[in-house]
Amino acid sequence: MALDVNTLFLVTIYVEAMLGLLLLFAWVQNSAITAVAWWGSAHLLRAGSIALFGTFGALPDLVSIDLANVILFTSFAATWIGARLFDGRPVSWLCLFAGAAAWLVLGRLTPIAGSMEARVLLSSGIITTYTWLAAYEFWRGREEPLVSRWPAIFMLFAHGALFLLRTPLSAVLPWSTSAAVFESVWMTVLSFEALLFTIAIAFILLAMAKERSEYLHRIAAFVDSLTGIANRRAFFDGCSQIERRLRDDPRPAAMLVMDLDNFKTINDNFGHGIGDTTLQIFAECASVNLSDDDLIGRLGGEEFAALLYGADHDKALIVAEGIRTTFAEAARDVYGRPVAASVSIGVAISEPGTFDVNALLTQADEALYRAKERGRNRTEFASLDLVLRLDGSTPSLRIDTLAARSAA
Ligand code: GH3
Ligand code: MG
Ligand code: MG
Repeated sequence: MALDVNTLFLVTIYVEAMLGLLLLFAWVQNSAITAVAWWGSAHLLRAGSIALFGTFGALPDLVSIDLANVILFTSFAATWIGARLFDGRPVSWLCLFAGAAAWLVLGRLTPIAGSMEARVLLSSGIITTYTWLAAYEFWRGREEPLVSRWPAIFMLFAHGALFLLRTPLSAVLPWSTSAAVFESVWMTVLSFEALLFTIAIAFILLAMAKERSEYLHRIAAFVDSLTGIANRRAFFDGCSQIERRLRDDPRPAAMLVMDLDNFKTINDNFGHGIGDTTLQIFAECASVNLSDDDLIGRLGGEEFAALLYGADHDKALIVAEGIRTTFAEAARDVYGRPVAASVSIGVAISEPGTFDVNALLTQADEALYRAKERGRNRTEFASLDLVLRLDGSTPSLRIDTLAARSAA
């Protein structure tokens, strides 16, 4: 192959430095993701390390080999630390320099110090370890739905494997035209791979950071920050999805509207903090009583709603009572204070083929109103009565509480 290794080295230095600066620039723009700063620094360190390798012969080996290697290992460690930070794991300063320390200590031990191959193997081993550790960190966080996580894992793993497999002589070598090894095809291929890897990994890490930001924004727009369940908007979006599902596969559904009892008094007596915790306890108690097909959301304040997919009257009663009793039990004491919170629940059922979110919410609301009127800490159902409209012609479904209220 006619590619000149010296040119490749030079290009790699420029590319590493440029990518490092670009990543740091991206971090300055959005400093929330610290990992990007680490990844940018890793590229800059690598640029410096390769440049130092290039001084081989001109500067003492301590600089052109030892210092260059120490910086090189630290750069791979920085990528790993960035991966840890990216998934919220602590930074280990010891591990950041462990590779460099291993090189300085082990590399001077007699069997290794005397053998070029052993030294190259040691350096490859350190780089592969850091690269695989970074891949492992991303793999550990795979529950977060980031598409770019997977190419990052694959590339880090593949690059680490290639490093370990490269023939000892072609690993970390000084930048010089004199050594015959530089004319080998193998060396050209490896240098070229390193260059492509560094471009690809910078691109993919940046894509991950961007995807993470978008994911967090999406969550912020749809998740209630206090309780971690769907906010009002997300709840109604979910209802529309269930509505489409029920159109294709008609089933019953149940709407529960739930309002904490005398919550203002709880805030007044125990403080807003305890009030907030009580809301969190409620969201938790409600969630554990629901199945994966069901939906729960915070409509606002201390009012919540749940839509139970495929639930008839009996199923809805079991779930509502489950939520009510679990909550009463869990919120009896909050941080040692006798809060004794409770919830009132109004339930409305839609028969298969009649699903209408707004109508269901209105009916469930009316039932909730009745639960409050009848003493709180209870579940009431909207009882559907077939009533004739006043104009007499078309029968329609109305709930008795509506009639009762308008009569009052
Ligand atoms: P009822 O049994 O009739 O529902 O009485 P209530 O006191 O629960 O009803 P009301 O609507 O008068 O009071 C609701 C209270 O909920 C008032 C408001 O300060 C409180 N609240 C709303 N959102 C939050 C919140 O995020 N945190 C806390 N701690 N309190 C909240
Ligand atoms: Mg209330
Ligand atoms: Mg309320």
